Amino acid sequence: MSVKPAQKPVELLGGLKQPEGVLESLDDAITRKRNGEPTWNLFERRTKTHNEAIGLPVGKVLPHPLAHQAINERFARKTSGNQRMIYIHIPFCSTICSFCAFFRQAVGSYDISCYVDALVNQINRLGAAQSCPEENIGAVYFGGGTPSLLHQDQIEAILNAVRSNFSLSRDCEITLESRLNGITSEYLQGLRRAGVNRISFGVQTLNTEMRRTLGRIAERNHILSVLHESEHAGFESITVDLIYNLPGQTAKTWEEDLNDLASTPVTGASVYSLIPFKHSVLGKNLAEGKEPPLGGIQNEYEFYSTSDRFFTNLDGWKRFSPVHYGKVGCERNLYNTMRSAPIDILGFGAGGGGRVQGLLYMNPVNVSRFVEDQAQQGDQHLFAVDMDPLYPKAMSCFELTDSLSMHESAIPDFLPSVSTTLSKFQEMDAARCQDGVWELSEAGCFWGYNVSAAIAQAIRQDMNTISSQEVNYE
Ligand code: SF4
Repeated sequence: MSVKPAQKPVELLGGLKQPEGVLESLDDAITRKRNGEPTWNLFERRTKTHNEAIGLPVGKVLPHPLAHQAINERFARKTSGNQRMIYIHIPFCSTICSFCAFFRQAVGSYDISCYVDALVNQINRLGAAQSCPEENIGAVYFGGGTPSLLHQDQIEAILNAVRSNFSLSRDCEITLESRLNGITSEYLQGLRRAGVNRISFGVQTLNTEMRRTLGRIAERNHILSVLHESEHAGFESITVDLIYNLPGQTAKTWEEDLNDLASTPVTGASVYSLIPFKHSVLGKNLAEGKEPPLGGIQNEYEFYSTSDRFFTNLDGWKRFSPVHYGKVGCERNLYNTMRSAPIDILGFGAGGGGRVQGLLYMNPVNVSRFVEDQAQQGDQHLFAVDMDPLYPKAMSCFELTDSLSMHESAIPDFLPSVSTTLSKFQEMDAARCQDGVWELSEAGCFWGYNVSAAIAQAIRQDMNTISSQEVNYE
């Protein structure tokens, strides 16, 4: 089929930055590599977040009345039969972590039961509108905020609404992000009874003193005991988030964290470099000299290499992405790995976003507004973008950084700059292509978000040049 892309210039998804200059820095990085510079010196700047890396032209923003009609119409549209995923946002936290820049509200600022009712209402209303309720949902993800602030009965009520409106695959991965403070074995068992089979804890570090710096309350022994209780409760996968390059962190404390975790039933780990957001409490404390200064890029690389070696050498474990590791057979990390696939992700809840049948959308980030809209049986404040039909094809190029390998056929013909870009990463030993399959090397994983940012810039460049000409979309 031959289609015309939406008229250019296209709107950009609100809030996402577009890092420019990454493509321009590739030749310089190749020269540095040839001159024998170490891996950490290949680029001037390390891109550290998925959102910062991917600012793509996605389509046209719809004004509110049209957005509202469009979401109902897209849920009702006949689909292609692909697997789908569900994202549920719980935007509350009991305490605010010092490094956090996510959308969340302190608990107590809103009646959580009203929010749960509104969420169930939205799931029921949009679920009732869909035309293919028999289609498989492969993954459900409760993110936040802190979803574990909800009582297990509230999680069960939400999952019951999901099940009565959507058909979950038999091996559906159901993940819930959880705090550690105040988590009991009864709570964990309640989550399992509700159907949650994968739990993700924001550990960051087991070092109690450093956790205090981050605004985290739970102590090391409590964390270890929650991880063991999770195994007793029967979770198929228990995964943790870790952060390196924290103020005061040393090679020794980092190794202690890793060794401690290896003695627990943890089956997955996401490992991130600290991002000292300027407006976060931690960012301000660092700027005012109230915390020890952070180590530079060489320090980051050393922390990264230590954990990368550690997890890839753990018995039965492998890298799932540049930032995620897990035990084969227990961990699948489906929700994160499949984000770049051309499938629908149905997002529910204030600040929750998704895409359905070519419509990219985000519910209002304001909890009161979301609840009021649901009380009126509508999504009057939905932010929605009618996606350029080329966008899902372009997204498939991020399979490389979402899942470490990608067949070259995933790169559409209308994006020649993506292949040129990957060849440049190959020249600096950050990527390789064998038998038509692209893979990231260890250096490519360290610079993983730079690779994403370069791919995004290459896509923008090509999509701006194809403008109004006809392209082969199949
Ligand atoms: S628990 Fe997560 S969302 Fe909440 S403040 Fe901490 S980092 Fe932010």
